[in-house]
Amino acid sequence: MNQALKLTMKAINHQLLFILLCIFTLATEAANKISFDRITELESGNLKIVFHLDKVALINSYALDDPSRIVIDLKNTSIKEPIESKFFAPIKLIRANEVGNSVRVVLDLKGSVYWKKPWQVKHKDRVDLILEIKRDRKISNNLRDIIVAIDAGHGGRDPGAVGKNLLEKDVTLLISKELERTLKNTRGYMPIMIRPDDRYLNLDDRYQNARKLSADLFVSIHADAFSLSSVKGASVYVWSEEASSITAETLSKSKLSSSPEVKSKIGKLDIRDFDEDAARTLYQIAYEAKIDNSVILAEKILEQLKRDPYTKMHKPNVEFADFRVLKSVDIPSVLIESGFISNPDDAKRLAGKPGRRMIARSVFLGIHNYFKEKPKPNTFMTSLPKYIEYEIQKGDVISEIAIRFGVTIDEIINWNNLKNKSIYPGQIIQITI
Ligand SMILES: [Zn+2]
Repeated sequence: MNQALKLTMKAINHQLLFILLCIFTLATEAANKISFDRITELESGNLKIVFHLDKVALINSYALDDPSRIVIDLKNTSIKEPIESKFFAPIKLIRANEVGNSVRVVLDLKGSVYWKKPWQVKHKDRVDLILEIKRDRKISNNLRDIIVAIDAGHGGRDPGAVGKNLLEKDVTLLISKELERTLKNTRGYMPIMIRPDDRYLNLDDRYQNARKLSADLFVSIHADAFSLSSVKGASVYVWSEEASSITAETLSKSKLSSSPEVKSKIGKLDIRDFDEDAARTLYQIAYEAKIDNSVILAEKILEQLKRDPYTKMHKPNVEFADFRVLKSVDIPSVLIESGFISNPDDAKRLAGKPGRRMIARSVFLGIHNYFKEKPKPNTFMTSLPKYIEYEIQKGDVISEIAIRFGVTIDEIINWNNLKNKSIYPGQIIQITI
């Protein structure tokens, strides 16, 4: 063997070793393991069940009746140590088994429970998978709330679009809070605020948090600005992979290798987070369903925005764009541009409560109509509900409620046999929408 060939062989060996190392690293990185941790009874009477994971997982959870049970499917996960434990009522048994690359955890129950979809909390060395259940003798099927993630665009050191006396970050937070208020007091919905106040949150944390909190839907609220002040109106966006790949390509050519910001971001990537980009290839069916459902949700919101007398439309159809915040692999996600704060009419509309309330109402009604078309098992939107139930809050007036739900005062009075316009906190009223 001559010297040159020896060197080549050595290089090939090194290369082979490198490839093997890569495969090994990938394999160990890919594996997520689950183990049972504990079960505690909370003051609220809820039972809290905690499992440990190595990192955030792609989870599908649902409940079944007769016999009553809750099922949690975790993708790309294996069992660390056998899970099979008996507990006190209403839990009969907690068991788990591996199905291909997934783990199926089953809670066998005695009777129907009110349950909270399992959510994930990241710690330094692990991820906690938490679920809460409560025996409820009044319900005949297992029931849970629909979780809506509300993402108020920008925040903190990022003001978003800047208008005269008006910042996008303030407008988006106020619209989000209005939407949160409606969802919170409507039975069966649970809003989660991705940005609850004037704080900075990067785009990756926004969709990562929606996943960890087990959102059924993700709505991102924004407002535009443009150099031409005549441009106005609202639009609704859905993520587009094509637009995204073009941007990614440009980014990889121009910025990726040189930009210190991009470099520091790559450096900060947490391996305990779930990789939505990789998941798009792995879970193609879930991803396609997500896009279809996002379009339906966007259309339902658009339909309501068109009815809103205050708001003019910028784009009459659902738009597709590369908004990274929408890239979750399985959570239907839309972005609403509520108007142009660079336009005097839109700025005036978004600076005032009535204008913002109308945007929140369109989003709420859009979400509700989405679930009418895509019912969620084990929620109050399982089958078409005749009405929604709203709990009166301190300070509520009937005229305001009518506006928020897009109905008339007289309708509310008739549906609820109210003697007059007076209502009281804690009162539950029925609204047909
Ligand atoms: Zn924005």
